[in-house]
Amino acid sequence: MTRALTHGVAGYNRGCRCRECCAAYSRYRKDLRARHAERGLDPADPRHGTVNGYTNLGCRCRPCTVVASAVNAANKRARALKLRAS
Ligand SMILES: [Zn+2]
Ligand SMILES: [Zn+2]
Repeated sequence: MTRALTHGVAGYNRGCRCRECCAAYSRYRKDLRARHAERGLDPADPRHGTVNGYTNLGCRCRPCTVVASAVNAANKRARALKLRAS
């Protein structure tokens, strides 16, 4: 068995989806998110109060959480409506 490919995040980025690569990648993503959450957003950052700020940048300030939960509620409502319509 030849293993020319380096498994792990590098392997995942190259398209390998073996268990090792997937595990490494999900660890890496979790790490990234934890780092974002630690750092937080600059108080002057214009992305506060956006879903992007909450979801991708991990900001948990009040404007960000309020917008994110409003969007979540709207999504849930839309899903419920769709279920009822079908
Ligand atoms: Zn792999
Ligand atoms: Zn924020």
